[in-house]
Amino acid sequence: MTTTTNAAAFAAAQQVIPGGVDSPVRAFGSVGGTPRFMASARGAYLTDVEGAEYVDLVCSWGPMLLGHNDPRVVEAVHAAVDRGLSFGTSVEGETELARLIASRVPVERVRFVSTGTEATMTALRLARGVTGRNLIVKFAGCYHGHSDGLLAAAGSGVATQALPGSAGVTEAAASETIVVDYNDRAALGAVFAEKGERIAAVITEAVPCNMGVVEPAEGYNAFLREITRRHGALLIWDEVLTGFRATATGGWGLSGQPEGWTPDIWCFGKVIGGGMPAAALAGSEEIMNHLAPLGPVYQAGTLSGNPVAMAAGIATLGDADESVYAAVQRASDALREGVVSAFDAAGLDHSIQRAGTLFSVAFGTSERGVHDYADAQGQEVFRYAPFFQSMLEQGVYLPPSVFEAWFVSAAHDDAAIGRVLDALPAAARAAAA
Ligand code: PLP
Repeated sequence: MTTTTNAAAFAAAQQVIPGGVDSPVRAFGSVGGTPRFMASARGAYLTDVEGAEYVDLVCSWGPMLLGHNDPRVVEAVHAAVDRGLSFGTSVEGETELARLIASRVPVERVRFVSTGTEATMTALRLARGVTGRNLIVKFAGCYHGHSDGLLAAAGSGVATQALPGSAGVTEAAASETIVVDYNDRAALGAVFAEKGERIAAVITEAVPCNMGVVEPAEGYNAFLREITRRHGALLIWDEVLTGFRATATGGWGLSGQPEGWTPDIWCFGKVIGGGMPAAALAGSEEIMNHLAPLGPVYQAGTLSGNPVAMAAGIATLGDADESVYAAVQRASDALREGVVSAFDAAGLDHSIQRAGTLFSVAFGTSERGVHDYADAQGQEVFRYAPFFQSMLEQGVYLPPSVFEAWFVSAAHDDAAIGRVLDALPAAARAAAA
Protein backbone atom coordinates (compact mmCIF):
# COMPACT_ATOMS: atom_id res chain seq x y z
CA MET A 1 0.00 0.00 0.00
CA THR A 2 1.51 3.34 -0.96
CA THR A 3 1.55 6.05 1.63
CA THR A 4 3.10 8.89 -0.33
CA THR A 5 0.34 11.39 0.34
CA ASN A 6 0.07 10.38 3.99
CA ALA A 7 3.84 10.68 4.31
CA ALA A 8 3.77 14.12 2.69
CA ALA A 9 0.95 15.23 4.99
CA PHE A 10 2.88 13.95 8.03
CA ALA A 11 6.10 15.66 6.88
CA ALA A 12 4.23 18.95 6.39
CA ALA A 13 2.58 18.63 9.80
CA GLN A 14 5.95 18.05 11.46
CA GLN A 15 7.09 21.42 10.14
CA VAL A 16 4.46 23.26 12.18
CA ILE A 17 3.17 20.86 14.85
CA PRO A 18 5.45 19.14 17.42
CA GLY A 19 5.84 15.57 16.21
CA GLY A 20 3.22 16.30 13.57
CA VAL A 21 0.35 15.39 15.91
CA ASP A 22 -1.92 16.99 18.48
CA SER A 23 -2.19 13.85 20.61
CA PRO A 24 0.90 11.63 20.97
CA VAL A 25 -0.46 8.15 20.17
CA ARG A 26 -1.53 9.39 16.71
CA ALA A 27 2.16 9.54 15.73
CA PHE A 28 2.38 5.71 15.43
CA GLY A 29 5.50 5.86 17.65
CA SER A 30 5.05 2.38 19.12
CA VAL A 31 3.86 0.66 15.94
CA GLY A 32 6.05 2.40 13.37
CA GLY A 33 5.14 3.34 9.81
CA THR A 34 3.36 6.38 8.48
CA PRO A 35 0.41 7.78 10.43
CA ARG A 36 -2.67 7.96 8.25
CA PHE A 37 -4.28 11.34 7.69
CA MET A 38 -8.01 10.84 7.37
CA ALA A 39 -10.10 12.77 4.91
CA SER A 40 -13.58 11.47 5.71
CA ALA A 41 -15.53 8.80 7.57
CA ARG A 42 -18.88 7.09 7.21
CA GLY A 43 -20.46 4.31 9.26
CA ALA A 44 -17.75 1.81 10.17
CA TYR A 45 -15.20 3.17 7.70
CA LEU A 46 -12.46 5.79 7.53
CA THR A 47 -11.01 7.07 4.26
CA ASP A 48 -7.52 8.54 4.21
CA VAL A 49 -6.07 11.32 2.06
CA GLU A 50 -5.03 8.71 -0.53
CA GLY A 51 -8.56 7.37 -0.84
CA ALA A 52 -7.71 4.11 1.02
CA GLU A 53 -10.59 2.80 3.11
CA TYR A 54 -10.24 1.20 6.55
CA VAL A 55 -12.65 -0.55 8.88
CA ASP A 56 -12.30 1.68 11.94
CA LEU A 57 -11.71 -0.05 15.29
CA VAL A 58 -10.90 3.21 17.10
CA CYS A 59 -14.13 5.16 16.56
CA SER A 60 -12.41 8.44 17.48
CA TRP A 61 -11.32 6.72 20.74
CA GLY A 62 -14.90 6.07 21.74
CA PRO A 63 -17.35 8.82 20.84
CA MET A 64 -18.69 7.37 17.58
CA LEU A 65 -21.09 4.89 19.20
CA LEU A 66 -23.59 5.15 16.33
CA GLY A 67 -20.86 5.07 13.67
CA HIS A 68 -19.31 7.91 11.71
CA ASN A 69 -21.49 10.63 10.26
CA ASP A 70 -24.70 9.07 11.48
CA PRO A 71 -27.41 10.99 9.56
CA ARG A 72 -29.42 11.76 12.73
CA VAL A 73 -26.40 13.33 14.42
CA VAL A 74 -25.26 15.16 11.31
CA GLU A 75 -28.73 16.62 10.82
CA ALA A 76 -28.91 17.79 14.44
CA VAL A 77 -25.46 19.35 14.15
CA HIS A 78 -26.33 21.11 10.87
CA ALA A 79 -29.49 22.53 12.44
CA ALA A 80 -27.49 23.76 15.46
CA VAL A 81 -24.82 25.30 13.24
CA ASP A 82 -27.50 27.15 11.32
CA ARG A 83 -28.66 28.71 14.59
CA GLY A 84 -25.16 29.86 15.62
CA LEU A 85 -21.86 28.33 16.71
CA SER A 86 -21.47 29.70 20.23
CA PHE A 87 -23.30 32.31 22.26
CA GLY A 88 -21.41 32.46 25.55
CA THR A 89 -24.78 32.09 27.27
CA SER A 90 -26.76 29.15 28.52
CA VAL A 91 -28.69 27.17 25.91
CA GLU A 92 -31.61 24.80 26.40
CA GLY A 93 -29.58 21.95 24.91
CA GLU A 94 -27.48 21.85 28.09
CA THR A 95 -30.55 21.08 30.18
CA GLU A 96 -31.73 18.49 27.68
CA LEU A 97 -28.40 16.63 27.59
CA ALA A 98 -28.09 16.83 31.40
CA ARG A 99 -31.56 15.26 31.67
CA LEU A 100 -30.61 12.51 29.25
CA ILE A 101 -27.54 11.70 31.33
CA ALA A 102 -29.55 11.76 34.57
CA SER A 103 -32.10 9.40 32.99
CA ARG A 104 -29.39 6.76 32.58
CA VAL A 105 -27.37 7.03 35.79
CA PRO A 106 -28.28 8.26 39.30
CA VAL A 107 -26.97 11.83 39.20
CA GLU A 108 -28.87 14.98 40.15
CA ARG A 109 -26.67 17.73 38.73
CA VAL A 110 -24.44 17.80 35.64
CA ARG A 111 -21.82 20.44 34.80
CA PHE A 112 -20.59 20.47 31.20
CA VAL A 113 -16.99 21.13 30.18
CA SER A 114 -15.24 20.55 26.86
CA THR A 115 -12.81 17.67 27.55
CA GLY A 116 -12.47 14.65 29.80
CA THR A 117 -9.29 16.22 31.18
CA GLU A 118 -11.29 19.20 32.41
CA ALA A 119 -13.92 16.93 33.91
CA THR A 120 -11.46 14.92 36.02
CA MET A 121 -9.39 17.99 36.91
CA THR A 122 -12.51 19.74 38.17
CA ALA A 123 -13.64 16.59 39.97
CA LEU A 124 -10.40 16.60 41.99
CA ARG A 125 -10.85 20.27 42.88
CA LEU A 126 -14.44 19.62 43.86
CA ALA A 127 -13.48 16.63 46.02
CA ARG A 128 -10.83 18.71 47.77
CA GLY A 129 -13.29 21.58 48.21
CA VAL A 130 -15.95 19.31 49.67
CA THR A 131 -13.68 17.38 52.03
CA GLY A 132 -11.11 20.03 52.91
CA ARG A 133 -8.41 17.40 52.30
CA ASN A 134 -5.48 17.36 49.86
CA LEU A 135 -4.49 13.85 48.84
CA ILE A 136 -5.80 11.97 45.81
CA VAL A 137 -5.35 8.25 45.23
CA LYS A 138 -5.12 7.02 41.66
CA PHE A 139 -4.33 3.60 40.23
CA ALA A 140 -1.22 2.79 38.20
CA GLY A 141 -2.15 2.44 34.53
CA CYS A 142 -5.40 4.38 34.79
CA TYR A 143 -5.55 7.45 32.56
CA HIS A 144 -7.68 10.41 33.54
CA GLY A 145 -6.50 13.03 31.05
CA HIS A 146 -3.40 15.19 31.25
CA SER A 147 -3.84 17.48 34.24
CA ASP A 148 -0.67 17.66 36.35
CA GLY A 149 -1.79 15.67 39.37
CA LEU A 150 -3.13 12.78 37.29
CA LEU A 151 -0.17 12.04 35.01
CA ALA A 152 1.72 9.87 37.51
CA ALA A 153 1.91 6.25 36.26
CA ALA A 154 -0.80 7.07 33.75
CA GLY A 155 -2.06 4.78 31.02
CA SER A 156 -2.90 5.62 27.38
CA GLY A 157 -0.17 7.62 25.59
CA VAL A 158 1.94 7.85 28.75
CA ALA A 159 1.98 4.03 28.90
CA THR A 160 2.58 3.74 25.15
CA GLN A 161 5.67 5.90 25.46
CA ALA A 162 6.74 4.03 28.63
CA LEU A 163 7.00 7.28 30.61
CA PRO A 164 6.82 7.32 34.42
CA GLY A 165 4.91 10.59 34.24
CA SER A 166 5.60 13.90 32.57
CA ALA A 167 8.31 16.54 32.74
CA GLY A 168 6.88 19.85 33.85
CA VAL A 169 4.80 18.40 36.68
CA THR A 170 6.07 19.93 39.91
CA GLU A 171 7.05 17.76 42.84
CA ALA A 172 4.39 19.58 44.84
CA ALA A 173 1.65 18.54 42.39
CA ALA A 174 2.94 14.96 42.17
CA SER A 175 3.31 14.64 45.94
CA GLU A 176 -0.42 15.04 46.45
CA THR A 177 -1.17 12.03 44.24
CA ILE A 178 -0.70 8.58 45.73
CA VAL A 179 -0.40 5.81 43.13
CA VAL A 180 -1.60 2.33 44.09
CA ASP A 181 -1.65 -0.90 42.07
CA TYR A 182 -5.06 -1.67 40.61
CA ASN A 183 -6.96 -4.63 42.07
CA ASP A 184 -4.69 -4.65 45.17
CA ARG A 185 -7.03 -4.25 48.15
CA ALA A 186 -4.27 -4.63 50.73
CA ALA A 187 -2.20 -1.83 49.18
CA LEU A 188 -5.14 0.56 49.20
CA GLY A 189 -6.04 -0.49 52.73
CA ALA A 190 -2.50 0.31 53.87
CA VAL A 191 -2.63 3.76 52.27
CA PHE A 192 -5.92 4.53 54.01
CA ALA A 193 -4.61 3.16 57.30
CA GLU A 194 -1.67 5.53 57.14
CA LYS A 195 -3.13 8.64 55.48
CA GLY A 196 -6.89 8.15 55.51
CA GLU A 197 -7.67 11.44 57.21
CA ARG A 198 -5.87 13.38 54.49
CA ILE A 199 -7.35 11.60 51.47
CA ALA A 200 -9.92 13.67 49.59
CA ALA A 201 -10.75 11.08 46.96
CA VAL A 202 -9.94 7.88 45.16
CA ILE A 203 -10.26 8.28 41.40
CA THR A 204 -10.74 5.19 39.29
CA GLU A 205 -11.81 4.31 35.77
CA ALA A 206 -15.10 2.44 36.05
CA VAL A 207 -13.27 -0.31 34.20
CA PRO A 208 -9.67 0.58 33.35
CA CYS A 209 -9.31 0.73 29.56
CA ASN A 210 -6.12 2.76 29.13
CA MET A 211 -3.58 0.03 29.94
CA GLY A 212 -5.64 -2.15 27.66
CA VAL A 213 -8.80 -3.28 29.39
CA VAL A 214 -8.25 -4.57 32.94
CA GLU A 215 -11.26 -6.10 34.59
CA PRO A 216 -11.89 -5.21 38.23
CA ALA A 217 -11.77 -8.32 40.42
CA GLU A 218 -15.14 -9.48 41.71
CA GLY A 219 -16.41 -6.92 44.24
CA TYR A 220 -13.41 -4.60 43.77
CA ASN A 221 -15.41 -1.50 42.84
CA ALA A 222 -17.80 -2.12 45.75
CA PHE A 223 -14.70 -2.32 47.95
CA LEU A 224 -13.58 1.10 46.64
CA ARG A 225 -17.02 2.47 47.48
CA GLU A 226 -16.92 1.01 50.97
CA ILE A 227 -13.38 2.03 51.94
CA THR A 228 -13.76 5.60 50.68
CA ARG A 229 -17.04 6.03 52.56
CA ARG A 230 -15.56 4.55 55.74
CA HIS A 231 -12.74 7.10 55.68
CA GLY A 232 -14.82 10.14 54.66
CA ALA A 233 -13.19 10.31 51.22
CA LEU A 234 -15.07 10.64 47.94
CA LEU A 235 -15.12 8.11 45.11
CA ILE A 236 -14.52 9.76 41.72
CA TRP A 237 -15.81 7.49 39.01
CA ASP A 238 -14.22 8.20 35.66
CA GLU A 239 -16.57 7.08 32.91
CA VAL A 240 -15.09 9.36 30.24
CA LEU A 241 -14.28 6.31 28.13
CA THR A 242 -16.75 3.71 29.39
CA GLY A 243 -19.76 6.01 29.94
CA PHE A 244 -22.75 5.03 27.79
CA ARG A 245 -20.40 2.88 25.73
CA ALA A 246 -19.39 -0.22 27.72
CA THR A 247 -23.14 -0.67 28.33
CA ALA A 248 -26.17 1.64 28.15
CA THR A 249 -25.30 2.66 31.72
CA GLY A 250 -21.55 2.55 31.19
CA GLY A 251 -19.09 0.79 33.45
CA TRP A 252 -21.48 1.41 36.34
CA GLY A 253 -23.87 -0.97 34.58
CA LEU A 254 -21.29 -3.72 35.02
CA SER A 255 -20.70 -3.35 38.76
CA GLY A 256 -22.31 -0.44 40.62
CA GLN A 257 -25.77 -0.77 39.19
CA PRO A 258 -26.23 -4.50 39.88
CA GLU A 259 -24.64 -4.15 43.31
CA GLY A 260 -26.79 -1.15 44.20
CA TRP A 261 -24.24 1.51 45.06
CA THR A 262 -23.31 4.86 43.52
CA PRO A 263 -20.07 6.82 43.39
CA ASP A 264 -19.84 10.46 44.53
CA ILE A 265 -18.55 12.29 41.48
CA TRP A 266 -18.92 10.96 37.95
CA CYS A 267 -16.90 12.08 34.94
CA PHE A 268 -18.18 11.70 31.39
CA GLY A 269 -16.87 12.59 27.94
CA LYS A 270 -16.54 10.99 24.52
CA VAL A 271 -20.02 9.51 23.79
CA ILE A 272 -21.86 12.43 25.44
CA GLY A 273 -20.37 14.73 22.80
CA GLY A 274 -21.08 12.37 19.90
CA GLY A 275 -17.78 13.39 18.28
CA MET A 276 -17.87 17.06 19.30
CA PRO A 277 -15.96 18.47 22.31
CA ALA A 278 -18.22 17.87 25.30
CA ALA A 279 -17.57 16.27 28.67
CA ALA A 280 -19.11 16.61 32.12
CA LEU A 281 -18.85 15.97 35.80
CA ALA A 282 -21.94 15.00 37.70
CA GLY A 283 -23.21 13.86 41.09
CA SER A 284 -25.67 14.58 43.85
CA GLU A 285 -27.15 18.03 44.33
CA GLU A 286 -25.36 18.26 47.66
CA ILE A 287 -21.89 17.67 46.22
CA MET A 288 -22.32 19.47 42.91
CA ASN A 289 -23.70 22.61 44.54
CA HIS A 290 -20.22 23.25 45.93
CA LEU A 291 -19.38 24.45 42.39
CA ALA A 292 -19.54 28.15 41.50
CA PRO A 293 -21.82 30.07 41.27
CA LEU A 294 -23.57 28.30 44.19
CA GLY A 295 -20.48 27.25 46.06
CA PRO A 296 -16.82 28.16 46.57
CA VAL A 297 -15.22 25.67 44.11
CA TYR A 298 -14.49 27.60 40.93
CA GLN A 299 -14.92 26.20 37.43
CA ALA A 300 -15.76 27.85 34.11
CA GLY A 301 -15.33 27.55 30.34
CA THR A 302 -15.77 29.81 27.30
CA LEU A 303 -17.08 26.90 25.22
CA SER A 304 -18.61 24.80 28.02
CA GLY A 305 -22.05 23.55 26.98
CA ASN A 306 -21.41 24.64 23.40
CA PRO A 307 -24.71 24.46 21.47
CA VAL A 308 -23.31 22.43 18.55
CA ALA A 309 -21.63 19.94 20.90
CA MET A 310 -24.84 19.66 22.93
CA ALA A 311 -26.81 18.94 19.74
CA ALA A 312 -24.39 16.15 18.77
CA GLY A 313 -24.54 14.70 22.29
CA ILE A 314 -28.35 14.83 22.47
CA ALA A 315 -28.70 13.15 19.08
CA THR A 316 -26.15 10.46 19.98
CA LEU A 317 -27.40 9.63 23.47
CA GLY A 318 -31.02 10.12 22.44
CA ASP A 319 -30.68 7.64 19.59
CA ALA A 320 -28.61 5.12 21.54
CA ASP A 321 -31.45 2.77 22.49
CA GLU A 322 -31.32 -0.91 23.40
CA SER A 323 -31.04 -1.94 19.77
CA VAL A 324 -27.90 0.18 19.38
CA TYR A 325 -26.19 -1.44 22.38
CA ALA A 326 -27.28 -4.87 21.16
CA ALA A 327 -25.73 -4.15 17.74
CA VAL A 328 -22.49 -2.86 19.26
CA GLN A 329 -22.27 -5.88 21.58
CA ARG A 330 -22.93 -8.27 18.67
CA ALA A 331 -20.15 -6.68 16.61
CA SER A 332 -17.78 -6.72 19.58
CA ASP A 333 -18.50 -10.38 20.36
CA ALA A 334 -18.02 -11.46 16.74
CA LEU A 335 -14.77 -9.56 16.56
CA ARG A 336 -13.47 -10.95 19.85
CA GLU A 337 -14.34 -14.51 18.85
CA GLY A 338 -12.58 -13.95 15.52
CA VAL A 339 -9.48 -12.69 17.30
CA VAL A 340 -9.39 -15.71 19.59
CA SER A 341 -9.69 -18.22 16.76
CA ALA A 342 -7.10 -16.45 14.58
CA PHE A 343 -4.66 -16.20 17.49
CA ASP A 344 -5.24 -19.82 18.49
CA ALA A 345 -4.74 -20.98 14.91
CA ALA A 346 -1.45 -19.06 14.78
CA GLY A 347 -0.36 -20.54 18.14
CA LEU A 348 -0.23 -17.05 19.60
CA ASP A 349 -0.33 -16.95 23.39
CA HIS A 350 -2.71 -14.21 24.51
CA SER A 351 -5.51 -13.21 26.83
CA ILE A 352 -8.51 -10.98 26.22
CA GLN A 353 -9.95 -8.62 28.79
CA ARG A 354 -13.50 -7.31 28.45
CA ALA A 355 -15.65 -4.43 29.61
CA GLY A 356 -19.11 -4.83 28.08
CA THR A 357 -18.76 -3.83 24.42
CA LEU A 358 -15.06 -3.02 24.88
CA PHE A 359 -12.14 -5.42 24.88
CA SER A 360 -8.40 -5.54 24.33
CA VAL A 361 -5.77 -8.18 23.67
CA ALA A 362 -2.57 -8.81 25.61
CA PHE A 363 0.15 -11.03 24.18
CA GLY A 364 1.90 -13.77 26.17
CA THR A 365 -0.42 -13.41 29.16
CA SER A 366 -2.63 -16.50 28.97
CA GLU A 367 -1.30 -17.99 32.18
CA ARG A 368 -1.78 -15.06 34.51
CA GLY A 369 -4.16 -12.76 32.64
CA VAL A 370 -3.90 -8.99 33.13
CA HIS A 371 -4.93 -7.68 36.53
CA ASP A 372 -2.83 -4.55 36.90
CA TYR A 373 -0.38 -2.23 35.17
CA ALA A 374 2.62 -4.48 35.80
CA ASP A 375 0.84 -7.35 34.03
CA ALA A 376 -0.05 -5.07 31.13
CA GLN A 377 3.49 -3.78 30.80
CA GLY A 378 4.94 -7.28 31.18
CA GLN A 379 3.18 -8.63 28.07
CA GLU A 380 4.98 -9.29 24.78
CA VAL A 381 4.44 -5.74 23.55
CA PHE A 382 6.71 -6.30 20.51
CA ARG A 383 4.06 -8.52 18.91
CA TYR A 384 1.60 -5.68 18.48
CA ALA A 385 3.50 -3.65 15.84
CA PRO A 386 3.63 -6.42 13.19
CA PHE A 387 0.01 -7.30 14.00
CA PHE A 388 -1.08 -3.67 13.67
CA GLN A 389 0.86 -3.14 10.41
CA SER A 390 -0.57 -6.26 8.81
CA MET A 391 -4.12 -5.22 9.74
CA LEU A 392 -3.49 -1.70 8.43
CA GLU A 393 -2.15 -3.06 5.13
CA GLN A 394 -5.34 -5.08 4.87
CA GLY A 395 -7.54 -2.07 5.51
CA VAL A 396 -8.25 -2.28 9.24
CA TYR A 397 -7.49 0.69 11.48
CA LEU A 398 -6.65 -0.54 14.98
CA PRO A 399 -5.60 1.61 17.94
CA PRO A 400 -1.90 2.38 17.28
CA SER A 401 -0.94 1.04 20.73
CA VAL A 402 -1.47 -2.26 22.52
CA PHE A 403 -2.44 -0.29 25.65
CA GLU A 404 -5.82 0.73 24.26
CA ALA A 405 -9.26 -0.81 24.00
CA TRP A 406 -10.80 -1.71 20.63
CA PHE A 407 -13.96 0.18 19.74
CA VAL A 408 -16.80 -0.78 17.43
CA SER A 409 -20.06 0.99 16.68
CA ALA A 410 -23.63 0.15 15.78
CA ALA A 411 -22.59 0.70 12.15
CA HIS A 412 -20.13 -2.22 12.30
CA ASP A 413 -22.34 -4.62 10.39
CA ASP A 414 -21.53 -8.13 9.19
CA ALA A 415 -19.75 -6.76 6.11
CA ALA A 416 -17.43 -4.56 8.17
CA ILE A 417 -16.72 -7.21 10.79
CA GLY A 418 -16.27 -9.76 7.99
CA ARG A 419 -13.49 -7.63 6.52
CA VAL A 420 -11.73 -7.60 9.87
CA LEU A 421 -12.17 -11.36 10.31
CA ASP A 422 -10.66 -11.92 6.87
CA ALA A 423 -7.62 -9.85 7.80
CA LEU A 424 -6.98 -11.48 11.17
CA PRO A 425 -5.27 -14.78 10.21
CA ALA A 426 -2.38 -13.15 8.31
CA ALA A 427 -1.95 -10.50 11.03
CA ALA A 428 -1.95 -13.18 13.74
CA ARG A 429 0.76 -15.08 11.86
CA ALA A 430 2.79 -11.84 11.58
CA ALA A 431 2.46 -11.34 15.34
CA ALA A 432 3.44 -14.94 16.09
CA ALA A 433 6.58 -14.84 13.92
N1 PLP B 1 -10.53 9.79 31.45
C1 PLP B 1 -10.47 8.67 30.72
C2 PLP B 1 -10.86 7.35 31.34
C3 PLP B 1 -10.05 8.69 29.39
O1 PLP B 1 -9.99 7.56 28.68
C4 PLP B 1 -9.68 9.95 28.83
C5 PLP B 1 -9.22 10.03 27.45
O2 PLP B 1 -9.00 9.07 26.76
C6 PLP B 1 -9.76 11.09 29.63
C7 PLP B 1 -10.18 10.98 30.93
C8 PLP B 1 -9.38 12.42 29.08
O3 PLP B 1 -10.31 12.86 28.15
P1 PLP B 1 -9.91 13.94 27.05
O4 PLP B 1 -8.97 13.26 26.10
O5 PLP B 1 -11.21 14.33 26.42
O6 PLP B 1 -9.27 15.08 27.77
